[in-house]
Amino acid sequence: MHTGRIHSIETFGTLDGPGIRFVLFLQGCALQCRYCHNPDSWDASAGQPRTVEEVLAEIEPYVDDYKSSGGGITVTGGEPTLQAPFVAELFRECKKRWGLHTALDSSGFCDPHHAEALLAATDLVLLDLKYMDSEGHRRLTTQPNERILAFARHLSRRGIPMWVRRVLVPELTDHAADLLELGRFLAGLRTVEKVEVLPYHRMGVFKWQQLGRSYSLEGCREPDAKEVERAVDWIERGRREGAAAEQKRLARLYE
Ligand code: SF4
Repeated sequence: MHTGRIHSIETFGTLDGPGIRFVLFLQGCALQCRYCHNPDSWDASAGQPRTVEEVLAEIEPYVDDYKSSGGGITVTGGEPTLQAPFVAELFRECKKRWGLHTALDSSGFCDPHHAEALLAATDLVLLDLKYMDSEGHRRLTTQPNERILAFARHLSRRGIPMWVRRVLVPELTDHAADLLELGRFLAGLRTVEKVEVLPYHRMGVFKWQQLGRSYSLEGCREPDAKEVERAVDWIERGRREGAAAEQKRLARLYE
């Protein structure tokens, strides 16, 4: 039985997948996003060690609520694929014992082969595509994005449903050209069920202060509803353009 390093637990989550969900936050992340609201989850050696059986005991009292609401379990972080064998076993047990729906909330910064057993037990991936320009992505997160885009393509080829997310930070991740590019990229994926634009918020800023880290987005404001709507429009426009380009390409093949 595997042991995971746990950051925290939420028993009635409604934001990370369909229905009411048990949300498990794990320790460890290889990115350092400038807007991260859980910087205390970065250190892979911190948190509480718990076995799969101990986590299952936390889930059990609420299983009926999760099932009747069309919910399930979501594992997030930090980056949950860093503890892939633990999460794979947890998901397999949730399915075997209760038939629970399983969702993985990931940055996608992961070698798909490392996560194969985990993906085999995953019903839905909530995938953050933070920025399409790789250099801009590195400035935002400390890492380039090629590996993340490859992970998204792998999920598509494997037929795993995705909800794609973009955190909208004014003047950082809201550039029209990058949102268009995101839409075009999504048009090439077969299993995107939903695209969510999540407005940047400042609720985790105090954690940066507590950890003695300097917060580079000091003074950054939260976007308003109109800005979020505009971002959704740019992404949808990119998806239409991408789909039209793909149709043209296929038509040429059959000419
Ligand atoms: S991937 Fe998530 S947990 Fe990791 S730094 Fe970025 S926002 Fe934070």
